[in-house]
Parts: sequence; structure tokens; C-alpha cells
Amino acid sequence: MATGERMATINQNFLKLEANYLFADIERKVANFKDSNPDARIISLGIGDVTRPLVPAVIDALHKAVDEMGDAAHFRGYGPYGGYDFLRDLIMEYDYKAHGVDIKPDEIFVSDGAKSDVGNFQELFAQDSVVAVTDPVYPVYVDSNVLAGRAGEKVDGQWNRIVYLPCVSENDFVPDFPKKRPDMIYLCYPNNPTGTVLGRKALQGWVDYARREGSVILYDSAYEAYIRDPDVPHSIFELEGAKEVAVEFRSFSKTAGFTGLRCAYVVVPKDLKISDGHGGSVDLNHCWYRRQCTKYNGCPYIVQRAAAATYSESGQRQVRDVIRGYQKNADLLADALRKLGLKVYGGVNAPYLWVKTPSGMKSWDFFDLLLHKSALVCTPGAGFGKSGEGYVRLTSFGSPDDTEEAISRIRDLAAQSTF
Ligand code: PLP
Repeated sequence: MATGERMATINQNFLKLEANYLFADIERKVANFKDSNPDARIISLGIGDVTRPLVPAVIDALHKAVDEMGDAAHFRGYGPYGGYDFLRDLIMEYDYKAHGVDIKPDEIFVSDGAKSDVGNFQELFAQDSVVAVTDPVYPVYVDSNVLAGRAGEKVDGQWNRIVYLPCVSENDFVPDFPKKRPDMIYLCYPNNPTGTVLGRKALQGWVDYARREGSVILYDSAYEAYIRDPDVPHSIFELEGAKEVAVEFRSFSKTAGFTGLRCAYVVVPKDLKISDGHGGSVDLNHCWYRRQCTKYNGCPYIVQRAAAATYSESGQRQVRDVIRGYQKNADLLADALRKLGLKVYGGVNAPYLWVKTPSGMKSWDFFDLLLHKSALVCTPGAGFGKSGEGYVRLTSFGSPDDTEEAISRIRDLAAQSTF
């Protein structure tokens, strides 16, 4: 075997990318706890995955599409790069037109997930582009830019070429405009992990900022289906001028339980242009199409049929029922924790509750307390970034029974003193 200088060399940016310590650390701590407490019934309020099964309308559509694939008259091979028209037309009607937004089918690109879309989209930007993210943050935005070589070096837990926009209770979780002008701004609303939202005025502020500064907003709206407050926009394209400065990522994962089935889409308006680096401009819609043609062969036909079924009358009703169930969990959790004197943010327009730890405890200390005293698992906020320290994230994706049981255990814990 060749050694030393004659070996191929790893992309150095890949080495900068640490293992995902957060979830690995959680897993390790939970495994240790299980070893020493084999009879404990652990309940996880940390999971970011749905637990309810796919709704009947989706299952019916899947069966039908599977049968079509076994029939020579209806079999489908490679599909269109941007997705089938039957799905793009429904997305246009229900997700945009219904909210007064004019998006054309060829501005919609169907994919196998928002994670890959948000991770891949940065490829279209120059390598020296400056990236801004909110803090705490969904780690994919940062890690994909680390891989691309845009993040610089890690100093005191933060990358020195990334602009961090702290979102904490002191600013009502609304990020301030940065001092340093970013080329790309990742915004995620409703937010993971804080569960907070941006109202119409605040989001318009960001659109105006991006227009002034020539930045592009990468708007992740994976939790749009959880919005209840009428002042919260469902799409960034509801805001004036947004089509010139924003891309929007959506997913069927949390909307319709597709985390294991995989379907999402990104909207890239034709009005969105960036510099070609030579005094002219390029059209990002065309560039993303070209990128997808190069590296992606499309979301499976049967999955796109399943996604389309979520827009049927029965599909909409069934999917909304499931979301209502998760929202009920969120309401019960938030109410119970507030009654115990805890400060709870989010949870109204998102499946996530962002809870301030009692008595100024560190995130991981509160995690340990909940695990060891109550056999409950949460996600330490510090794992999502510096500004997440002193918070934990709880999710409402558990079953109603587990949620009730978790609440009762937290009540018992509080009664024993600690907070
Ligand atoms: N964006 C955010 C903010 C998320 O929290 C998640 C999943 O947890 C995703 C995207 C990924 O969605 P998908 O399952 O479509 O890849």
C-alpha cells in the first residue's frame, strides 16, 4: 500500500468539521444512564423527529403510485429535474397563491429534503463570500460552509469568518443587523432551535437590509405549517421586494411526517440575481437548475405523488390533525413549565420550546439534572451555539401520553426543590 506523499489527501476543510458532538454526547450520556438504571423508562423531549405515522391519504397515494410503477403503461423513469408539474402546480396554488404570493412552477425545485437543499445551495456563491447565521443555529448552515472553506478558523467556539447574530431573550430573539456586511444570510423561521418567529415588520426589515446591502437571504421555512399567529408571514415572499433577494426552503418532513419518506422543495425566484464577478449578473434560478442537473436526479415519483396527496381535501385535513396534536403537546408543556416558574419561549408557532434553565444553570447541568432525576432527555441549548447557553430545547413531537408523563415528572422534580 502506498504511504506518505503518495497517498491521496483529504479535503482539509473536512478535517475542520468536527463530529456532531452535541447529539453524540447526548447519546453517550443517555447510554451511560441506561446502563446504571436499566429499569428507568426514559422519555425523550429532545427528538427532532416526528412520531405519528403517515396519514391515510398519503399511504393511499403511495400504494397507487407503486402499482403504476409496475405497469408498463404508467411506469416512470428519471423525472424532470425540478420535479413533476402535478406537484409544482399544487405547491404554487396552496403554499403561495393562497397567501397572495405569485410563484411560478419553474421557480420551484422539488428535492429529497431541505437538509440537502440548505446544505447544497451555498455552492452557488463565491468561496470568499461572508456568511451570517443566527446564534443559536441549525448546524447545517454553518457546517456546509465550513466544508466549503468559508468559515475560517474556530476561535473560542465560533468560526472567525462567520458573522453570528445573537438571538436571546434580551432582544426578543430578533437578530440585529450585523456590523459586517454579509453576502449570504441564513434565516430560519419558525426557528429551530428556539421555536421563535419573526413578525411581518421584522422580516420586512431583513428584506430591506438585504436589498440595501446586496445580500441574499437563505430562508429556511421547514416549520411553516406550525404557524398560528396571523402576524407571522408563511413565506418570505409575502414581503415586498423579497423575490429579488431571497430563496426559500420548505419541507414535507415536519408538515406531513415525511422525515423517512423524503420530500422538500426550494423556491428560487427568477428575479433573484447576483454578481457574475465581472461587472454583470447571473440568474440564481438558472444556476440552481444547472447545479441540480449536474448532481441530482430527482425525488422519486412515488414520493412526489405522496407529497401531492397532502394537498387533497382529505390529505389537508389529516395532516392538520396531526399538527394540531403536536401543537397540543406544545401548549401543555409550555403551560405546565410556566406554572412552575420557568421562562418558556417559542412553542406557539413551532414544535420547539426554548426553556431558560432555572437558577442560571448551564445547559448541560440542567440536561444532567433532568436525565438523572427524572429520566427525561432534552437538548442542551449550548450545543446550538454560544447564545444557546443557559437554555434547553424541548420538542412537542412525543406522544400525548409521554408528554403528560414528562410534565408530571418535571412537576415532581420541581417539588423536590431544585427550581
Ligand atoms: N431545516 C430545519 C430548520 C430543520 O430543523 C430540519 C430538520 O430537522 C431540516 C431543515 C431538514 O428537513 P428535511 O427532513 O427536509 O431534510
